[in-house]
Amino acid sequence: MTILFKSIQGKARLQNPLKDFALDEIPYEIRFDPLTGETGRVFDLPFKAERPDVSDTVRRSTELFCPFCPETMKKSTPLFPKEVIPEGRIEVGEASLIPNLLPFDKYAGVSVFSRRHHIPIEELTPETMADAFSASMVFIKRVFHIDPLMEYASVNWNYMPPSGSSMVHPHLQPNCGEFPTNEQRMQVEASRRYAQENSNLFWHDYVEAEKARGDRDIGEIEHTFWTMSFVPRGFLPDVWCIFPRHSSLAQIGEQELLPFLIGLSKILRYFNKQNILSFNVSIFFVREDEHFRVNARICPRLTPRGIGNSDMAYFQTIHKEPFTVRKPESVCPELREFFGG
Ligand SMILES: [Zn+2]
Repeated sequence: MTILFKSIQGKARLQNPLKDFALDEIPYEIRFDPLTGETGRVFDLPFKAERPDVSDTVRRSTELFCPFCPETMKKSTPLFPKEVIPEGRIEVGEASLIPNLLPFDKYAGVSVFSRRHHIPIEELTPETMADAFSASMVFIKRVFHIDPLMEYASVNWNYMPPSGSSMVHPHLQPNCGEFPTNEQRMQVEASRRYAQENSNLFWHDYVEAEKARGDRDIGEIEHTFWTMSFVPRGFLPDVWCIFPRHSSLAQIGEQELLPFLIGLSKILRYFNKQNILSFNVSIFFVREDEHFRVNARICPRLTPRGIGNSDMAYFQTIHKEPFTVRKPESVCPELREFFGG
């Protein structure tokens, strides 16, 4: 096993006004992603999010046009061509899946959860989430069936405006394409490289390495493994969910997704307790790759100060370097309390 949790620890010296300008040292850490080698910065600050006023956001959103509300949905949203989806849209339970007017890829959908304009975070249970995820899987599988060029797929979620969502009305965004995004390409290439260099599968070694360390390992639900990311992607530590046995899209159906939704709902309960009322989710799939495994990231999103600033700044957008103000190892025990029950 050659999983490396490489980190460089340093301290910046300054004369601290909070300590009567005495010479002080502020620690920082540069961490290297065990799979891709990408770096990120980790700080250890006593940050606690203030509870945002969601009711005001929801009120303002109802004053704007919402294409996903039932009175406008059918006349304001597009339909798929018949050769892609014969019925034009996919309906599963309460969810409706339609084309995304912003085509992030050759096949891009929007899976609207239900007729409800706002579903509060505490009501995001496996039951309320299942239909939209199932519709997304029906869409991806259909597209992979009709178009043999399709290799990469993802199911993505921006929940509430701090995550980048322009709509309060909950919806997923499944994308399918011939070409990977940067993240997909790095995951696939690094997985292959690891297998060649180690004659072993990264994903199995990684799960074992996190279990052996125990300070970021959140737990397992059936065939899914959950851990804090060693190199977090957001302002606060994010969660990585790995399907160690699933290498292809074809292996994932409704039953396989249920443990993911159970784990996700537990994490969202923790987010809610921590006043984190917005998040991003992405689940990654490939058509088939023996070195790859289905995996997902769940990333908290927030406006850190009362001024309403974004939690992404030049460091992430231009340097492509994430930073996190709390250590994943400090968040892990807090999150684990929500995972057990
Ligand atoms: Zn709506």
